[in-house]
Amino acid sequence: MGVPTLACDCPVCTSADPHDRRLRPSVLLRWQDGENAAERIVVIDTGPDFREQALRQRLNHVDAVFYTHAHADHILGMDDLRPFSFIASKQGGPIPLYADRQVAEVLERTFAYTFSPQSKYPTRARVRLVPLGDHNLLNGVDFVRIPLWHGEQAIVGYRFGNAAYMTDVSAIPEPSFALLEGVEVLAISALRHIPHPSHSTVKQSLEWSRRIGARQTWFTHISHDLGHEETNRALPADAKLAYDGLSVPVTL
Ligand SMILES: [Zn+2]
Ligand SMILES: [Zn+2]
Repeated sequence: MGVPTLACDCPVCTSADPHDRRLRPSVLLRWQDGENAAERIVVIDTGPDFREQALRQRLNHVDAVFYTHAHADHILGMDDLRPFSFIASKQGGPIPLYADRQVAEVLERTFAYTFSPQSKYPTRARVRLVPLGDHNLLNGVDFVRIPLWHGEQAIVGYRFGNAAYMTDVSAIPEPSFALLEGVEVLAISALRHIPHPSHSTVKQSLEWSRRIGARQTWFTHISHDLGHEETNRALPADAKLAYDGLSVPVTL
């Protein structure tokens, strides 16, 4: 829902700490492509705050988007790819959007004016849906699909190099742990302390992080139940609440 949450005046929603202002979750991976030293920018999910996040990070292009699942807080900013997509289509082609079939179907329905072959909307986003594989090689970086559960819904997280991003997770299927072997930097959702049917708690996510053996864990997709300072004080040094704008080095 983002923090402050609408119509809420709880201590976290009214907190003066900028860390307690949380836009909807998304991550950006930025690296230098060895072959031609080009800067590559990949975004995971385009939530309703994508435009604000892109401005904040001063993005000047987007090479690809990977989607985790099709809930509103993860897809509704897709249309704001338009300016980036005009640049991309002039340079190499439409921006690839990697998504599982059921996610692609929601995107096609939600943004019919973008994807319908009959669409005459002249300034629609120049994007193309790419079926998500188990491994998705992009400019030398392998984005590994990590199957996860989000309540009853099968969704995905991603591993890239020594890092993984897993949001909206409520359960990790056993075979996915093998795909996470060697992950050192883990970004994983932790909604709150009170159990929720489709999101894990801080305690549960910390336990998974321990099992994976991450050296550094960042919790994301945090509700207004968790104040930044107070929660972090109670957490171990290697596992903390992430915050908007946080930048973490990873090895690809
Ligand atoms: Zn969700
Ligand atoms: Zn979500």
